[in-house]
Amino acid sequence: MNPAPPVEQAPTAIIEQMQALEQTISGCQKCALANGRTHAVPGYGNLHTVVMLVGEGPGFEEDKQGRPFVGRSGQFLTEMLHSVGIRRENVYITNVVKCRPPDNRDPRPDELAACSDYLTHQIALINPRIIVTLGRFSMARWFPGAAITKVHGQVRNIGRGRVALAMFHPAAALRNPQWAIEFKKDLQLLPKLVERAVKANAAAIRGEALPAGVPHPGDSDYQPVIGVPPATPPATVSASSASPLEQTDADQLTLF
Ligand code: URA
Ligand code: SF4
Repeated sequence: MNPAPPVEQAPTAIIEQMQALEQTISGCQKCALANGRTHAVPGYGNLHTVVMLVGEGPGFEEDKQGRPFVGRSGQFLTEMLHSVGIRRENVYITNVVKCRPPDNRDPRPDELAACSDYLTHQIALINPRIIVTLGRFSMARWFPGAAITKVHGQVRNIGRGRVALAMFHPAAALRNPQWAIEFKKDLQLLPKLVERAVKANAAAIRGEALPAGVPHPGDSDYQPVIGVPPATPPATVSASSASPLEQTDADQLTLF
């Protein structure tokens, strides 16, 4: 009998749930940003990845095309990812607000709050090991109260087997040469994190002990995340009742 072919796509159920979520976002009226949009920009990329990048909100080009980071910042981001050996097709990219703020102004607290559950849901579906925050507004979600000039380049364990890496926004890096240097330096942390995340997933599947510092399902704060995570930790799920979607960690293996 032939061995099973490597998994190269997210499970169909995940893809379908993400498509349903994208449709919900496209018709969303939960905040005033709905009024000015051409297209909502739910997010784009590989659902079968260990890396999610989270920016601020769509700009002019993104609003026109319905895809994140397709303008000048996006080109810079894509080039920078390539420079550390990561192809954009292999990661998932989204924003903290899915509709363009007028004149690219900062998203307001009520808009960030209204849009927040969509990102929570996306994280639950993709189950990334690494979340890269691009700019102040996504940083604030995992590094509350921090100043970006202080915490950029820091990697923080955010529980559930994930880490967050804080980075400057690509548009900020384009404006300020010193921040561009910092952006490149910080991004050089990513390949190592990816390597560790892939190893962690592989070891977890084999049921092996893991090297120190690698987030994995054996962590005390790790929980399989399916659907929108509940506010309080769920009771332990027995193997027999576990949803097949809880296999997402295993499915992330073939990516990098
Ligand atoms: N800036 C962002 O924060 N997100 C995009 O998608 C594009 C530009
Ligand atoms: Fe809905 Fe988010 Fe768009 Fe506001 S920004 S309308 S909450 S999708």
